[in-house]
Amino acid sequence: MTHSHYPHLLAPLDLGFTTLKNRVIMGSMHTGLEDRFYNYGKLAAFYRERARGGAGLIVTGGISPNRQGWLLPFGGTLNFIGDVPNHRKVTRAVHEEGGKIVLQILHAGRYGYQPFVVSASSVKSPISKFRPKALDAAGIEATIAAYARCAKLAQMAGYDGVEVMGSEGYLLNQFLCARTNKRSDEWGGSIENRMRLAVEVVRRIRAAVGPDFILMYRHSVLDLVEGGNTWDEVITVAKALEAAGVTILNTGYGWHEARIPTIVTSVPRAAFAQVAGQLRNEVKIPVVASNRINMPDDAEALLAGGSADLVSMARPFLADAEWVAKAAGGRVDEINTCIACNQACLDHTFSNKRASCLVNPRACHETELVYRPSARPRRVAVVGAGPAGLSAATVAAGRGHRVTLFDASNSIGGQFKVAMRVPGKEEFAETIRYFGRQLALTNVDLRLGRRVSREELLAEGYDDVILATGITTRKPKIAGIDHPKVLSYLDVLRDGRPVGRRVAIIGAGGIGFDMGEFLVHDPAVPLPVPAPHWMAEWGVDPGASTPGGLVPPVKPHPAREVWLLQRKTTRPGAGLGKTSGWVHRATLARNGVQMLAGVQYERIDDAGLHITVGGEQRLLEVDNVVICAGQESLAELMPAEPIAGGPRFYKIGGAALAAELDAKRAIREGAELAARL
Ligand code: FAD
Ligand code: NAP
Ligand code: SF4
Repeated sequence: MTHSHYPHLLAPLDLGFTTLKNRVIMGSMHTGLEDRFYNYGKLAAFYRERARGGAGLIVTGGISPNRQGWLLPFGGTLNFIGDVPNHRKVTRAVHEEGGKIVLQILHAGRYGYQPFVVSASSVKSPISKFRPKALDAAGIEATIAAYARCAKLAQMAGYDGVEVMGSEGYLLNQFLCARTNKRSDEWGGSIENRMRLAVEVVRRIRAAVGPDFILMYRHSVLDLVEGGNTWDEVITVAKALEAAGVTILNTGYGWHEARIPTIVTSVPRAAFAQVAGQLRNEVKIPVVASNRINMPDDAEALLAGGSADLVSMARPFLADAEWVAKAAGGRVDEINTCIACNQACLDHTFSNKRASCLVNPRACHETELVYRPSARPRRVAVVGAGPAGLSAATVAAGRGHRVTLFDASNSIGGQFKVAMRVPGKEEFAETIRYFGRQLALTNVDLRLGRRVSREELLAEGYDDVILATGITTRKPKIAGIDHPKVLSYLDVLRDGRPVGRRVAIIGAGGIGFDMGEFLVHDPAVPLPVPAPHWMAEWGVDPGASTPGGLVPPVKPHPAREVWLLQRKTTRPGAGLGKTSGWVHRATLARNGVQMLAGVQYERIDDAGLHITVGGEQRLLEVDNVVICAGQESLAELMPAEPIAGGPRFYKIGGAALAAELDAKRAIREGAELAARL
C-alpha cells in the first residue's frame, strides 16, 4: 500500500512484539451473529471482507466472560474450551487475509437485560428493568478470574489480543464511578478503590496471556452522566491501567444512559478527538480516538495534529469493507460513507435484529446477498435516481448488465437531496457522492432532466424496466389547504420558499421533526455545526472539570416559534429511530417547539391554523403552515397487465410502497432486485 495519500493514517505501528499495518482500528460492533454458534461462519465472512479491505486491527463484538456478564439472555460468551473452535473460524478468516483481530470482553453489569445481573452496588439502571445484585468479595474474585480465563481462551482461539470494555457504563465503568459504586469496602470510596477492579482485571489478564498479546482497554474519558468521573480521576485510572499492562488505550464517550448524543449524525465529525488528545499527553502507550470519525481526511488530520496514535471506526466498516484500501489507493470518492443514521445497525441491535447498514445492505449478509457477474447481460432501464434507483442501477451494472438510468431532475439523489439540507443531516450528501462515482465506474448510461414515458421505455426495447419513481407528497383534506400560507416540505426544503416567524407543522413523522430542526436553526450558527458550539449546546465540558464533564447547556436562539402537530394521541416522535429519536425530541424541546398530539385540524385562514385539541378549540396564529403529512406512491408508468413480448416491469422503494418507506428499504430493495436479475 502506498503511504503517500495519508502518511499518518497508513503508517505501521510497532508494538514491540507485533506490528499493526496501519492506524485504523475497526471498532467493536454487536452484529447479532456472535450470539449463536451456528452463525460463526457468517461472522467469519463478515470479518474476512473487512480484513481483506485493509483494517489494521479488528475488534469483535462484545463477548461475555461469564453468564452474569450477558447483555442479553444467551448472549455470546467465551468461558469454556468448547467455544474455542467456533472462534477459530473467525481468527482463521482474518489471518488468511493478513489482518489482526482482538476479542472484546464485555461484562454488561447492570446493563444486562437478563435476571443474573450484578454490579458494584444494587443501583438499578434507567435503561434496564433488572435490579443488579451487588457483587460480594467472592463474586468479585470470580469475575476477575472469568476475565482472565476468557482472555486465555481467546489466545487459544488464535486472537491477536483482547479489548477490555471499560466504558459506556458497563460493569468496570460502574465500579469506577460514584454514580453506581456506593461501596464502603476496598472496592469503593476513593478513586484508588473504585478502579481496583479494572486494574486487577488488566493485571490478571496480562499474567494469564503473557507479554506478547495485545491488551487494549476502552477507557471512559467522558462519562457524560451525573456522578461520573472528573478529568483528574480519568487520568489516575489511565496511568494505573498503563502500569498494569495495557498495550493500547482506546477511548469511550458517554454511558448508554447519558442524555447527550455521542454518535448520531448530528454529532459533528470527530467531535471528541480533542479529549483523546488530552489523554495522550498523560500516558506513554498509544491512544485511540473514536466516535464520528468516518472519512480519511478527518482521520489523517487528527493523527497529524497529535490527538491520537490510532483511530477507531466501527460503523464506517459496515458501510464499506474496503474503506482502508480505498483511502490507500487514493480512491476516497469511492468510499461508501457511514451517514451515522443508526437505522440498520444500532436500531437493529436494540430490537434484537441482525445488524446491517442502510447504505450497504450486504453488511452482515455477505454470504446471502452476493453480487455475481451476470452470465447473460440484459438491457435494463431504471427510472428514478433516488436511493432505490441508484442502488438498483449500480448493482445491476456492476454485475455486467447494460443499464440506463433516467431521472426527471437535473441531478441524482431523489429525496436525499432534500434530506441533506436539514441541519445535522449534511452526511446524506456523501451517499449521493458515492452513488455518483459508482454510476461512472460501472458505466451506467445516465440520462437526467427527462421525465420518461412508458411509450419511450417500450420503444427502446429493454429487457427489464425498474420503476424507482418514488413518491408524491400527501395533501391532507383540510379546509383552507390551498391558502397561500400553506407550504409543502418540498416548497421549503427543496425550493427554498420563505417561511415566517411563527409556523405550524402538520405531521410529526421523521420529516416533520426534520422540518422543525430546519425552522428553528439559528442562522448565526454555521452548518455543519462546529464541535465547540455543539458541545456548548448540549452542556459538555470536554475538559471534564466537573464530574462526567457536564455543564449547564447554553440557551439556544431559535429562529422561529414552531408548533409540531399530529392527530395520533401517542407521544410525538414515538415512531422515530430507537437510538436517535430521543435526540430529535430533545433538540426540538430545547428550542421551544410545542409538540401537540391528538390534534384535529379545523381550517386554515388569514388568522392562522384552527385546531381542536383535548376538546378545546385553539387558534395558532401562524404565518405559515408546513405540510409534512406523509407520501403516496408514484408508479404511473407501471402497466396494469404484463405486456406480451415487452420488458418485465418491477417496482422498488417509494414507487412500490410509500407507507413505512425509508432509505434503508429503498436501497435494500434496489440491491436485492439487481442481484437477482
Ligand atoms: P425518491 O428518493 O423519491 O426518488 C425518486 C426519483 O424518481 C426522483 O429523483 C424523481 O425525480 C424520479 N422520477 C419520478 N418519476 C419519474 C419519471 N417519470 N421519469 C424520470 N424520473 C422520475 N429516509 C431515511 O431512511 N432516513 C432519513 O433520515 C430520512 N430523512 C429524510 C428527510 C427528508 C427531509 C426527506 C424528504 C426524506 C427523508 N428520508 C429519510 C426518506 C428517504 O429520502 C426516502 O425514503 C428515499 O429517498 C426513497 O427513495 P426512492 O428512491 O424510492 O424515491
Ligand atoms: P411519516 O413518518 O409516515 O409521518 C407522516 C405524518 O403525517 C405523521 O405524523 C402522521 O401523523 C401525519 N399524517 C398522515 N396522514 C395525514 C393526513 N391525512 N392529514 C394530516 N396528517 C397526516 O412520514 P414522513 O415524516 O413523511 O417520513 C417519510 C419517511 O421518511 C418515513 O418512513 C421515515 O421513516 C423516513 N424518515 C426518517 C427519518 C429518520 O430520522 N429516521 C427522518 C425523516 C424521514 P397523524 O396521522 O397522527 O396525524
Ligand atoms: Fe452508518 Fe447508518 Fe450504515 Fe449504521 S446503518 S453503519 S449508521 S450508514
